[in-house]
Amino acid sequence: MNTIKKTSWRSGLLGLVWLALCGSAVAQEQVLRLYSARHYQTDEALYSNFTKATGIRITRVDADDAGILARLKAEGAASPADVILLVDAARLGKGEADGLFRPIKSAVIEAAIPATLRAKAGPEGTAWFGLSTRARVVVYDKLKVKKDDVDTYEELAEPKNKGLLCTRSGSHPYNLSLFGSMMEHLGEARTESWLKGLVSNMARDPKGGDTDQIKAVASGECGIALSNTYYIARLMRSNSAEDKAVIERVGVVFPNQLSWGTHLNIAGAAVARHAKNVPAAVKFLEYLASPEAQNYFANGNNEWPAVPSVKVSNPALQAMSGGHFKAETVPVASVAAHQARVQQLLDRVGYK
Ligand code: FE
Repeated sequence: MNTIKKTSWRSGLLGLVWLALCGSAVAQEQVLRLYSARHYQTDEALYSNFTKATGIRITRVDADDAGILARLKAEGAASPADVILLVDAARLGKGEADGLFRPIKSAVIEAAIPATLRAKAGPEGTAWFGLSTRARVVVYDKLKVKKDDVDTYEELAEPKNKGLLCTRSGSHPYNLSLFGSMMEHLGEARTESWLKGLVSNMARDPKGGDTDQIKAVASGECGIALSNTYYIARLMRSNSAEDKAVIERVGVVFPNQLSWGTHLNIAGAAVARHAKNVPAAVKFLEYLASPEAQNYFANGNNEWPAVPSVKVSNPALQAMSGGHFKAETVPVASVAAHQARVQQLLDRVGYK
């Protein structure tokens, strides 16, 4: 699964020849080592533009989020990683709690990325930054379920929705974060009874990913599901007849428009605790927060840019949200901080 982009020794050699020809004390070629849980074609353009602009070459290790965190832990101080790209605040919060990141101070990033989309700043700086946002929304069967019955997260736990709900595992970071956000809005006691209500409304035991839940709604097995917006956007943009039929059958609701807003999460980046090239790592994060990079970064996975002034033109997101929706404003860092407590509640109510 892990593929390592090998250093091109040939370009290194050309560089050395060039240095010798120059005969001056030019600095060595700079390399930035990236551990990434994102693998989209548009990201390639991002990296090559950065190299073009700065001369800093990027090498990349691709793995999934859990694999990256495990690898950083195992490698310790010997880790070659400079920058870490992860999805979901729960995972970034976990990496921070485990001491895997090096907090940084950057006026450029702080001006670009809203405070609610990054880690809480400590004396040493900020441990991670959101770079794109995704919403966790409700998908429902238009034939069986009325939109009015599922337009708040609270209602999903009410008896009227018995036997209809399908979700992936409660312990998955996407759900840990949503439930952590409920802790912020409802407090712990009400979140626990809400989770109990979700469990008693299940159409089946939690299994699969978000796309599986959407397909299970379309097949009639489930009436209601939770999904991150980019999974829905992918199906909307798909050319397969099967995916088109799925999208035809399901409705999408951005919950809690009349109260605190729809739960928002992030994909983001951090500098590795034992980064070997900290200045280049900071420069790369600043680049990712720049308007041109923001567009690529968000669109690559059908997400919204984290920088509010950057407008994205994504027809699927536009159609899904009607162009605008109210998002919650609780800091994603506070949401992430609840995950251990949320897991205890899940165990108590029997949410698998
Ligand atoms: Fe995902």
